[in-house]
Amino acid sequence: MTNEHVLDRALGAYLGFACGDALGATVEFMTPKQIHKHYGVHQDIIGGGWLNLEAGQVTDDTQMSLALGQAIIDHQDWNIQAVADNFVTWLESNPPDIGNTCRRGIIRYRDSGELFGLPREDDAGNGACMRNLPVVLATLNRPDLFRIWSLQQSHITHNNPLSDAATLTLGLIVKHLITLGDSDACQQESDALINQYNQFSYTPYLGKASAYIVDTVQTVLHYFFNTDSFESCLIATVNQGGDADTTGALAGMLAGAKYGVQQIPERWLNQLDAAIVVNILRQTTALIKTTHI
Ligand code: MN
Ligand code: MN
Repeated sequence: MTNEHVLDRALGAYLGFACGDALGATVEFMTPKQIHKHYGVHQDIIGGGWLNLEAGQVTDDTQMSLALGQAIIDHQDWNIQAVADNFVTWLESNPPDIGNTCRRGIIRYRDSGELFGLPREDDAGNGACMRNLPVVLATLNRPDLFRIWSLQQSHITHNNPLSDAATLTLGLIVKHLITLGDSDACQQESDALINQYNQFSYTPYLGKASAYIVDTVQTVLHYFFNTDSFESCLIATVNQGGDADTTGALAGMLAGAKYGVQQIPERWLNQLDAAIVVNILRQTTALIKTTHI
């Protein structure tokens, strides 16, 4: 695969991620029934929701990813302190939302300098998994670094085996899509995760889409593997409700990497916060370059 294809799929992943965040945020914490009653099928980036967002505004999912990506770009290498410092700066910027586990971990680092907490059963939210795309992009041909960096950034806030397994698996799936365009390899990664922790099994799909990493991954994989376009994947995912901005973002990341940036509907890209789009274009190019150091 040429470098041009890699960039096209990497851009698809990062812009697809932000589209899913902005699209899903409108219906975050709603049930499918409530969504249906309010919106019929929710399919446009219109803002609102419990955060009362502007149309096109993104939330913590995209903002934390950008904070992580910027730390890698600024140092042209891995600097876990810089990652944690960027999370602190972000926390103190009065963001629209922040998960409890993320808040607890970032405050612990800010107040004590500790870069990770002890393993906890209640750290099994999706907050570490949701922000890992920049690590994938910066380590496309370095599986050893991918693993170390992913786990280090995760453990700033989430130290839990289910969170770790999901973060690594979704990261590997995106990597296969970007570098090989290979769906068989994706299915193998998904099967390996389910063999290790069978609670991730999404067949039959039970329709839970909460921020618990198991529910999040089931939803994302179910809709990714059972739809055939970027648009249908995202619409199906966010209309499941629950943690819809995060499931939407992660589904958008996978579908964007699979179908490429051209398949992202123009009406979504045009609505997305223009400053965020510029930042994502710049970061994607810079992170891919880091890969080839
Ligand atoms: Mn969010
Ligand atoms: Mn969310």
